[in-house]
Amino acid sequence: MSAHDDSIHVPDEVRDRHEQLCQELDDYSYRYYLGKPVVSDAEYDQFMGELLDIERRHPILVTQDSPSQKVGAPISVDFAEVEHLVRMESLGNAFDYDELGAWADRASSEVPVDAYLCELKIDGLAVDLVYERGRLVRAATRGDGRVGEDITPNIRTIDVVPERLDESVRPAPRLLEVRGEVFLPVEDFERLNRRMADAGEHVFANPRNAAAGSLRQKDPRVTATRPLSMIVHGVGAYEPAGGEVSSGGVALTSQSQAYTLLGEWGLPLSDRYEVVDSMDAVRRYVARYERDRHVPAYEIDGIVIKVDDFGLQRRLGSTSRAPRWAIAYKYPPEEVTTKLVDIKVGVGRTGRVTPYGVMEPVVVAGSEVEFATLHNAQEVARKGVLIGDTVVLRKAGDVIPEIVGPVVDLRTGDERAFVMPERCPECGAELGQQKEGDVDLRCPNARSCPGQLRERVAFIAGRKALDIEALGYVAATALTQPLEPSEPPLRDEGDLFDLTVDQLLPIRTYVLDPDTTEPKTDPKTGDPKVVSFFANKEGEPKKTVEKLFEQLEEAKRKPLWRVLVALSIRHVGPRAAEDLARHFRSMDAIREADEEELASVDGIGPTIATSIREWFEVDWHAEIVRKWRDAGVRMEDEAPEYGSDLLKDLSIVVTGGLEGFTRDSAKEAIAGRGGRATSSVSKKTSFVVAGESPGSKYDKAVKLGVPILDERGFRVLLESGPEAAVRERTNPPGDTDGDGEAASGT
Ligand code: NAD
Repeated sequence: MSAHDDSIHVPDEVRDRHEQLCQELDDYSYRYYLGKPVVSDAEYDQFMGELLDIERRHPILVTQDSPSQKVGAPISVDFAEVEHLVRMESLGNAFDYDELGAWADRASSEVPVDAYLCELKIDGLAVDLVYERGRLVRAATRGDGRVGEDITPNIRTIDVVPERLDESVRPAPRLLEVRGEVFLPVEDFERLNRRMADAGEHVFANPRNAAAGSLRQKDPRVTATRPLSMIVHGVGAYEPAGGEVSSGGVALTSQSQAYTLLGEWGLPLSDRYEVVDSMDAVRRYVARYERDRHVPAYEIDGIVIKVDDFGLQRRLGSTSRAPRWAIAYKYPPEEVTTKLVDIKVGVGRTGRVTPYGVMEPVVVAGSEVEFATLHNAQEVARKGVLIGDTVVLRKAGDVIPEIVGPVVDLRTGDERAFVMPERCPECGAELGQQKEGDVDLRCPNARSCPGQLRERVAFIAGRKALDIEALGYVAATALTQPLEPSEPPLRDEGDLFDLTVDQLLPIRTYVLDPDTTEPKTDPKTGDPKVVSFFANKEGEPKKTVEKLFEQLEEAKRKPLWRVLVALSIRHVGPRAAEDLARHFRSMDAIREADEEELASVDGIGPTIATSIREWFEVDWHAEIVRKWRDAGVRMEDEAPEYGSDLLKDLSIVVTGGLEGFTRDSAKEAIAGRGGRATSSVSKKTSFVVAGESPGSKYDKAVKLGVPILDERGFRVLLESGPEAAVRERTNPPGDTDGDGEAASGT
């Protein structure tokens, strides 16, 4: 059968699926443009991909009506209709470098492209502004691309949108139609949501929905209370000043030249766009913002790449819905929808009992997610999620995954509400509030609740505390909840440094999933997995036992702040622990200090001070300290730790936010070891320490090949000096062009 026949004889099931997809995509679009989507963008894109695939194989199914041929959605009756002067288009998508390369190859095969303009794809709403003789006369949504909704009064409430164009550099054109994105900056979105929640109103799932909801208000006074912003990124109709170029007007020749003019006329532009001359440079731009996705103040969902020259843009033309001269490179989605299968509760190291969602596993921001904390019963209620709901799940960058809320429109009636248990899921003790008014429920059985102890032991071994790699979650479970023998070798963490090999060898234990604390099961039999963690088949110690004892010895010599963190005192994390250690230098001094003295330490407030006092007053806590001290755990920082010359002759730049240090305490830590904390990066810089959102200093360090350390690497530098720290650098040696690969070809 020929390809032609193939396209005419479409099997019924394919035809049906095509029709179903068309209907669903139209429905999703309609809801999306109202700011109330029922599926995630990723799912929408996936369905659209399926539709395109069917239409590629069966071109006869492509009608004008297909979502593949249309822009946006029909407009609602709430606003007057406006016909755009020049049609507004959508954009083609690329989801990987192959698709991006295929787009560039196609364009270059038709015209000689020598410059691409790269810019951020802002996740907002497309709008169209018309200026006549420099005056804003109309603003409209994109609508279906041809006709949009008149939102002029609402747009006039946006500060950055000029009512009149600035004519101080050159006269305004006779007619200017510009396109751009209206959005809500992330911080303003969070503030708005807090305000909505306080007023008992529904919060928005993301900044895009908030922007859509705010802009499409029938009452512009409501829009005016929402801090919307706008960036322009395109030109529609244009007539130069004086009507033509020859009479003093200026011609538009390229995207970048047009941006310069739009800027001069006072229109809001992005300062992050770049014109580059190769696809290699385009890919570097794409990669840079994939890493720095959360640096801009607004949300982006990808990069838009445009052929810069307007003459070439015209020659490349458009398909029925998108230009051939531009493409959107989409980043992996940070928001997806999935089914909330159950809500369970787990107990943490400080006894807090926390509900968490168990979901159908989904990939979000590049990693598979199955569980997400729901914090407390009030939070479950506030989010309004029911067991069985389809929920929006969000994971932005390195932030932990969050259940944003339910998709109410998809409820079937079979959903049920979550009920917070009254007893601890691990030890059965009755849960209670620590203080009246606390939102959290806690298990009161702090010392011997096996769940709490397991979590504390696993925490002691964590990177932020004593960093004992051989003591992972399974080992922590084995030491606190062995199946055999019935008596655990650890009654509490006080015994940790007194363990003996003989205690470990007989232990068998369940392998718990750290996210759910449920036993993992054998996929074949469905039985819970049981391991003998410390002994091999012959009953002799595994290698890990030797390692464990070695690392326990090392842990005893770790600095005081780590020991303090390991004690699981509420509110005392690495940052507070460092402040305490720097000030008091010894455990005894901390224990003896009264609340006032503790609270007077820089970085320590009354809450932490009270928490420390209360902790030391508990007998078995004091006993832990005593046992650890007897076992040789370091209880004071010797002077050399701070007045040493470990970092002598080194100049170190700290950029971006660090979790465990303030800017000042980082500088102090460097200076206290004889190093110099400087602020600008040069070839002479020894290390750049890059925290959250590091900015241009990071880029410069990459360029110059200066070793870059993350916070962990910085701690190694402070504890063990430059040689050890070099091994922790996050940029490869010799990588001076920032592509993540060594330039020397190693
Ligand atoms: P698009 O969002 O993929 O791309 C086109 C739009 O990008 C333009 O209209 C423009 O407004 C915007 N844009 C942002 N920055 C830009 C820049 N610098 N230069 C040029 N344009 C820029 O396409 P679309 O047609 O608006 O919408 C389709 C997409 O919307 C889908 O891929 C999906 O992600 C989402 N969508 C989701 C649902 C849902 O139910 N979740 C429904 C419909 C559409």
